[in-house]
Amino acid sequence: MGVHRCRRCQADSVIYMRQHRLALCEPHFVEWVERMTLGFIKKHRMFEPEDRVLVAVSGGKDSLSLWSILLKLGYQADGLYIDLGIDAGCGYSKRSGEHVAKFALQVVPGAKLHLLDLAALYGKTVPEMAGRRKGGRRKLCSVCGLVKRHEMNRAARELGYSVIATGHNLDDEAAVLFGNVLHWEAEYLVRQSPVLPADDLGLVKRAKPLARFYERETAAYAIVGNIDYIVDECPFSLGATSLRLKEVLNSMEDRSAGTKLNFYFSFLRARDNSLFPGYERPDLNPCCKCGQATGASGLCAFCRLV
Ligand code: AMP
Ligand code: ZN
Ligand code: ZN
Repeated sequence: MGVHRCRRCQADSVIYMRQHRLALCEPHFVEWVERMTLGFIKKHRMFEPEDRVLVAVSGGKDSLSLWSILLKLGYQADGLYIDLGIDAGCGYSKRSGEHVAKFALQVVPGAKLHLLDLAALYGKTVPEMAGRRKGGRRKLCSVCGLVKRHEMNRAARELGYSVIATGHNLDDEAAVLFGNVLHWEAEYLVRQSPVLPADDLGLVKRAKPLARFYERETAAYAIVGNIDYIVDECPFSLGATSLRLKEVLNSMEDRSAGTKLNFYFSFLRARDNSLFPGYERPDLNPCCKCGQATGASGLCAFCRLV
């Protein structure tokens, strides 16, 4: 294998993406990521320039890059940080919030940042909410996911945003897909998509504009763009199933570049061709407390939790 040169300008200092057989110098890589994101947003009809987009920012490389890319592409994008109250001896939520606030001030000063503090709102942090449940700490990740989804939706509705954008990358999406395939979770599989439509029960449209990028591509974008992100994963996610699924996919990717990309995009095509005919979303009702859609009758899972 010879030395790679930038496909656009022939520069010899490049980022090489084996999975695309594509080498680009830093400026052309940045341009490529932004152009591909725009194409992906348009292809999946995620949002239009007149939409008000609420970007859920965690302080990590993906969501901070996403916020910056959307603004560069000319979209109206404000940020939302949810302080989950995760400390775990390293002040995880506090440090993440500081990264987000600094980024908002220095990199996207024209945009708004909404801060939402769970303990201040509900008197309980995510670990406290999870601790009360059967299954305790092991349930923490699922409780955390539930809380984030509910609060993102509530914030978007109350603040008048038409779309919520999250920073999920291809590695995240491929791992979720892999997990769902291992258990043949057809109900989840039919709904796994880079864009989820709004519904008439107040569910705000959700979009994952970076779902076509490998994690190492979003990391490279953040590094090249000097985005100061929080490198640590959530301390509770260590040892989580999703990380094991990622490891398996990564070892397959090492032997055969493009495995993850092919796995995810072949799935999207199969799903569009009705891979699972006959599966429909179960009937939903409005929660009697918060009004958000739920499969349960009465209180939704979030309201039962708090
Ligand atoms: P995770 O579920 O931690 O893998 O994060 C997936 C996406 O959810 C991120 O890319 C963000 O868009 C969003 N997100 C995660 N944590 C937070 C948070 N504390 N506040 C706001 N958005 C978040
Ligand atoms: Zn170049
Ligand atoms: Zn509710």
